Amino acid sequence: MKELASLGNKDSQPCVLNSTESRATRTASMTTAKSVLRIAVPSPLYREFDYLPPPNTDLAGLQPGIRLRVPFGRRTTIGVLVDLPAQSEIDPQKLKPALEVLDHEPVISREILNMVQWASAYYQHPIGEALAAALPVSLRRGQAPDTADCTAWRLTAAGRQIDLDSLKRAPRQASVLAELHQHPQGLERSALDAPAGVLRALAEKGWTESLQQPRHERPRPGTTAHASAPGHALNPAQQQAVDSVLENLDHFQCFLLEGVTGSGKTEVYLQVIEQVLARRQQALLLVPEIGLTPQLVERFQARFPVPLAVLHSGLGNRERLNAWQQARSGVAPIIIGTRSAIFTPLARPGLLIVDEEHDPSLKQQDGFRYSARDLAVWRARQLNIPVLLGSATPSLESLHNVEQQRYQRLLLPERTGVACMPEYAIIDVSEQPPEHGVSADLLARIRHHLDADGQVLLFLNRRGFAPTFMCYDCGWIANCRRCDAHLTWHRRDNRLHCHHCGSQRPLDSHCPECGGRDLHPVGQGTERVEQALAEHFPDVERLRIDRDTTRRKGELDALLERARSGQGRLLLGTQMLAKGHHFPNVTLVGILDADHGLFSTDFRAGERMAQLIVQVAGRAGRHDRPGQVAIQTRHPDHPLLQLLVTQGYPAFAHAALLERQAARLPPETSLALLRAEATDEAMPLRFLESVREQVEAAGIGHIEAWGPVPAAMERRAGRFRAQLLLQSDRRGNLQQLLSRLVRQLEQDKLARQVRWSVDVDPADTY
Ligand code: ADP
Ligand code: ZN
Ligand code: ZN
Repeated sequence: MKELASLGNKDSQPCVLNSTESRATRTASMTTAKSVLRIAVPSPLYREFDYLPPPNTDLAGLQPGIRLRVPFGRRTTIGVLVDLPAQSEIDPQKLKPALEVLDHEPVISREILNMVQWASAYYQHPIGEALAAALPVSLRRGQAPDTADCTAWRLTAAGRQIDLDSLKRAPRQASVLAELHQHPQGLERSALDAPAGVLRALAEKGWTESLQQPRHERPRPGTTAHASAPGHALNPAQQQAVDSVLENLDHFQCFLLEGVTGSGKTEVYLQVIEQVLARRQQALLLVPEIGLTPQLVERFQARFPVPLAVLHSGLGNRERLNAWQQARSGVAPIIIGTRSAIFTPLARPGLLIVDEEHDPSLKQQDGFRYSARDLAVWRARQLNIPVLLGSATPSLESLHNVEQQRYQRLLLPERTGVACMPEYAIIDVSEQPPEHGVSADLLARIRHHLDADGQVLLFLNRRGFAPTFMCYDCGWIANCRRCDAHLTWHRRDNRLHCHHCGSQRPLDSHCPECGGRDLHPVGQGTERVEQALAEHFPDVERLRIDRDTTRRKGELDALLERARSGQGRLLLGTQMLAKGHHFPNVTLVGILDADHGLFSTDFRAGERMAQLIVQVAGRAGRHDRPGQVAIQTRHPDHPLLQLLVTQGYPAFAHAALLERQAARLPPETSLALLRAEATDEAMPLRFLESVREQVEAAGIGHIEAWGPVPAAMERRAGRFRAQLLLQSDRRGNLQQLLSRLVRQLEQDKLARQVRWSVDVDPADTY
């Protein structure tokens, strides 16, 4: 606390008061100097707001990064102090005083404040909202960071004596007692899978007692129970990768760790982290949402018997605050989290890692549209520490940075253990589209692998039974009433679902156009493929893994466990099955439809499809058997697809990069996408036309505007959508234009009639 306070005073920010002044003179000068508090308030406005300090406030305690409660419009809200300028452009008579100071010391450190300010400017998002997004929800709402007490439970002396066998008739009580036996220090309420009634009953019997402790002092459950498992002896490529990073622990360097699935990237992370911990520093690992599995956390926990702070979207507010505290205080030397964990404060930062750096989910798709990967590189540079980006299929952006010698490439060329890459087969389905999604050729391969005791994984990124429902008499197709999209028939509930707006309705019994009754599902989703598989392989255990089969808590883990154990032999799924999981017995991977990605309006679709194929292929043949990958396509001669399967991802990526250069698309140039939507059909285009005029009037060189055009799916959830693409080979020019533009749009009358947004470095451009 003392240390922090003195640090704050040494800060280079313009401080209104000198720390050596006595308390009395401080108060006196406060009233005369009329210091101003510049506060970032969550609002859609692109600026900060000036306030006077609350009456009788000791100004010396006010440092950037503290929260204050302030009046805002007709309500009060919570803002973050970003600066203490000597004067405001606003007449001091008109400034309102803030209502209350919420923190003694900053909840947003100078380091995080700088990062969010930079990100807010770069991604063109209002600073108040950006700062709010960087804070755990409970701090956003004004809760004090230190008093997030939790209730934990532990056994009493009497409780420790209970013979669990005597509790056969109360199995839930017995299981709680058994759990608490494992944790003599006590276990948080949230970690106990038991209803309140059971806990109350145990307490009433005097077998358990509750305790209150500040959350961040309590390690996560299970952290001390494990012993540290030793690391593997590294192969030469891994050793070289580890050494390269270790040689650079004292300064900024960005590494791209490229290696196919199973080549031992995670092992590299673990061994580098070991050295970071030995230096008493912290490591932050970012993973895509889908990659943050219990297995990953277990692997880290098994290796390092230290508190891990785990941050993901499934956490409750208290758990999230707890993990945030553990990172900030340094209690947790390892922090694993999804996208927003990039804003976690670190007491002793030593290393940042971004796993699956190509994954689009690292880019926030709405609101504050930041790229967690790019921010990680930015943050590491500021902190002067190394950052490691890992992937089996690096993004073209990162490969470009390697070519430009901005990033250092570390290559893991082979799989650990037996080095055998899967072998690809392309199945041409242009002549005979398979009725139930699986061609005769693929069926034969599946049978072959099952007969040879292998496990088979089929990938189809479409859930439901059939993506269209059609009248064979007149050609009518069931469409969503609110979107320009077909409805998907789900057999499970026999209803038509829109996968874009979530609306659903019962199946039509006859055609609304012609009255005919010849209505049929057309096309294939996972439900339908599963049905076909059931007919062909009735005796084989099948597992379908998609959003529909994993809605309830625990279902996904249970299915994955059956897949891993090898009991489920025929696995079928969407994205959920494609990434991050280890299925050692899979020998055949089938990609049921590769064409979706090859022919999309989005320029990144080909890259995405290639990444997906390689990722899914990475599930095959991980142990002692070679894997096979069969790809169904109507375009077997597609040049990029051919390149991918004959020469591998690096060759594909090289060719794709050349194509991007020729087309002057990223990473050759920078993009920003302006999107607009409204219930009025004409408004979005009209608004974007006017934006285009403003772009031209700005007269900034090296900028091209494309559009506006209607979005690929123009109407979604009842709103019409359009977009305007801005492109430049000078990032700085684009930035200059955008920051001018968003401020103009704030005053713009047309802008008020639409919902508009700016997406800098958009992940999708359709
Ligand atoms: P990736 O993260 O690239 O998918 P992992 O680090 O998970 O690869 O490694 C794949 C498997 O190989 C894991 O089961 C891991 O324990 C094992 N492994 C990694 N490195 C080695 C090594 N040097 N020697 C033996 N096994 C290893
Ligand atoms: Zn009809
Ligand atoms: Zn819809």
